[in-house]
Amino acid sequence: MALKYIDEAKIAGQKVIARFDFNVPIKNGKITDTTRVDSALPTIKYILDQGASKLIMMSHLGRPDGQINPKYSLNLVATYLAEKLGQDVVLTETAIDSSVKGIINLPKHKIILLENVRFHSEEEDNGADFAKTLASYGDIYVNDAFGTSHRKHASVYGITQFFKNNSYGGFLLKQEVVALMKITDNPTRPFMAIVGGAKIADKIKTLERLLVNVDALFIGGAMAYPFLKAQGKKVGKSLCSDGDYDLAKKILAQNSSSKIVLPIDHIIANSPEAAAGAVEVCKSVDIPDDMIGFDIGPETIKLYQQKLSAAKTVFWNGPMGMFENENFAKGTFEVARALANLNAFTLVGGGDSVSAVNKSGVASKISHISTGGGASLEFIEQGQLPGIQALKFGI
Ligand code: AMP
Repeated sequence: MALKYIDEAKIAGQKVIARFDFNVPIKNGKITDTTRVDSALPTIKYILDQGASKLIMMSHLGRPDGQINPKYSLNLVATYLAEKLGQDVVLTETAIDSSVKGIINLPKHKIILLENVRFHSEEEDNGADFAKTLASYGDIYVNDAFGTSHRKHASVYGITQFFKNNSYGGFLLKQEVVALMKITDNPTRPFMAIVGGAKIADKIKTLERLLVNVDALFIGGAMAYPFLKAQGKKVGKSLCSDGDYDLAKKILAQNSSSKIVLPIDHIIANSPEAAAGAVEVCKSVDIPDDMIGFDIGPETIKLYQQKLSAAKTVFWNGPMGMFENENFAKGTFEVARALANLNAFTLVGGGDSVSAVNKSGVASKISHISTGGGASLEFIEQGQLPGIQALKFGI
């Protein structure tokens, strides 16, 4: 069965229960970045425009660990949504208390937001009764929470068993799946990937999967040092755990490792707090014993730009250096610019690379920026996600 999207659903007169990712950052009682809610609006508006009798929305916010905690209430989201939609949005006291059904059944309430589903441990435990209660609120189920779809949680996974032929992906989920499939299913070649960041252990499966598929894999950031060390190069005091070194060695032992491109020079300092004047270019691939690599060097930038210029598909995850510090941001920003200038399908996924692309000012020139860091990496590893698979086949 193919994955059905919401534009195939008969919505008029139906109660729609939909899972979104409204996990927004909140500071001093204000939402500091509304992107996640804004990205859900096309699906929300479509459901309302198509004449749903009720829209019941679900989301998590933060990590309340199964406890009711006002700090993680969705109340600010409810207020923001009401403002954006120009209609009342009723927030329930909890997602499953006895008053919820009454609220849904009151004719005057059309748009209902269930309070944080993670106030109940059954959400993350994929509790069957919890999923059944959530399912009882609607006739049709919609998942537009791509960023949570790698989790087998009740509101994304367990709930689908109660909507065998009535589960649909929302527009945001569709956008993500269509974009990611351009990477996982016959990418236009040459297909190149850039992986950076700090920890190989977190990305080992993605690296291995990518190596099978790509024509070239560029490594940058702290991720590069275990590889360089495994090749017998000197990495000074750069970040390089024994575990990551072992993983790098394992990857380099594979035939496909010939596709890996590593830095040939570096930006170094003796501490991340070093003043700009104490930051040096290390022209050699070997880093002096008492120094730390914090960014890729100018020759590496040139090399990566030149090789990337042939690419027709590019996936990027993880910064090329400690880009939060402006002394070490150039490699990341230059790679972002290189991607922006390509005549290719470019996809950036993963929290830090997304903020790096935003900071570099070229976000609008990237073909697709994934909203789900962990989910996009897992999609690339597996070619699928549990929450999306469940939409297709049920569980
Ligand atoms: P990740 O979450 O694995 O994508 O890692 C992102 C983090 O890696 C960012 O906070 C960067 O500052 C950090 N990072 C990247 N390169 C380096 C480096 N050479 N040394 C220390 N931290 C780095």
